[in-house]
Amino acid sequence: MRVSVIGCGHLGIPHAAGMAEIGHEVIGVDTDQAKIDTLNRGEAPIYEAELPELLKRHTASGQLRFTTSVAEAAEAADVHFLAVGTPIDADGRGYDMGQVFGAARALAPHLTRPTVIIGKSTVTPGTTAKLADLLARHAPAGRDVEVVWNPEFLREGHAVADTLRPDRIVAGVPSHRAEDIVRELYAPIDAPLVVCDPPTAEMIKGAANSFLGLKISFINAVADMCAASGADVATVAATIGMDPRIGSGGMSPGIGYGGGCLPKDIRAFTAAARQLGADAAADLLRAAEIINEHRPASALDLITQALGGTPAGRDITVWGAAFKPGTNDVRESPALAVARLLQDRGARITVHDPHAVPTALARHPELEYTTDLAASVKGAEAVVLATEWPHYRDADPAALRDLPTEPLIVDLRTTLDPHRWTAAGWRVHQLGRPAVGTPQ
Ligand code: NAD
Repeated sequence: MRVSVIGCGHLGIPHAAGMAEIGHEVIGVDTDQAKIDTLNRGEAPIYEAELPELLKRHTASGQLRFTTSVAEAAEAADVHFLAVGTPIDADGRGYDMGQVFGAARALAPHLTRPTVIIGKSTVTPGTTAKLADLLARHAPAGRDVEVVWNPEFLREGHAVADTLRPDRIVAGVPSHRAEDIVRELYAPIDAPLVVCDPPTAEMIKGAANSFLGLKISFINAVADMCAASGADVATVAATIGMDPRIGSGGMSPGIGYGGGCLPKDIRAFTAAARQLGADAAADLLRAAEIINEHRPASALDLITQALGGTPAGRDITVWGAAFKPGTNDVRESPALAVARLLQDRGARITVHDPHAVPTALARHPELEYTTDLAASVKGAEAVVLATEWPHYRDADPAALRDLPTEPLIVDLRTTLDPHRWTAAGWRVHQLGRPAVGTPQ
């Protein structure tokens, strides 16, 4: 099929590449000319596993191309995916829907034949109906432009795999014709297809991200209780996760959720709950947000305790800048929140990340960075593991042992094997777990 993907960001690029991979002819559209030029060279402007290979292969064959022209996309495709951003609005409550309606307004005058618009962005409930009205008024094809809502569940760091092998596909469809098109589009993908009405599809996405946020905040709240009581949160999390009603996914205690999606989606879903009169739901979600907002402060308490005093004047290395492993996305990164909090308290900070140093530097030039793991720990009085990259879990503690001033590691992601590190002479503090290690 001939499809366009409007908005080439963390969602749109893997989606465009994935649609080409399953055999569609794809044109990606973005307003950012530099990004389009990079993509047309077959290069990935974001760090994602498998993405460089797909972009190279499909741009070289001509099956995938990119443009800044919506007119060209309207000419080239009969199905248009909307994958533009929905940041939080200026007053911090709902989504700023400017990119979604802006892209639809730009596309509308070029829609002269029956077309299906498939929304993938995460949006305010009711958006599909508003877009359908807007397009009916502004597109020459009128009501022959149909709008489907097909929320995206990909996880950054697994974006290509989740696009090609999702655990489910949700399509909120306005008609049988639109449903048939969705079925044909995704036919090469082996995943359950949930067909529903558009408001249900919009709600599924908001509810899914909010539930994830609740789960993460719940185990983080339990981590604080474990820290205060001497219990081991890693064992608690693993064991309660064995109950299939609870499940172990999202049960890693740490410094909270971040990134370009979860924080804003929970904020917006809370606002939607309030607007819809579901105050108890809004209060529940707000509690999850408050727990999340407090995570850097909990991390600071643990670091202070591990150091035996204030971080002021100390040389501290923070391992990780990306909001999670597998991506170079640093939007609302908890790791950088911890680094900045430590710097505010007077510590001298060096941040290491294997892939996210350029994006972190662009957003937070006030911090010092390195991409050299050994150099990052040299002279440090504490190493703080803030993003659970495998590089840190697999690092050789014996080889690093003599580089820092103090062989002290504070693991904020409960990801290290503490016995391996203590055997090599390190003192290990983990969030929500009793400290282990030889006193220095
Ligand atoms: P992003 O900011 O990385 O990308 C958005 C892109 O849209 C940018 O490249 C921007 O230049 C482009 N754009 C803006 N207006 C445009 C227009 N009028 N025409 C063409 N391009 C335009 O955002 P993202 O992380 O890719 O998220 C996009 C949407 O997908 C959001 O609603 C988000 O909540 C949702 N989502 C994201 C993920 C994820 O993992 N990032 C997962 C699921 C859902």
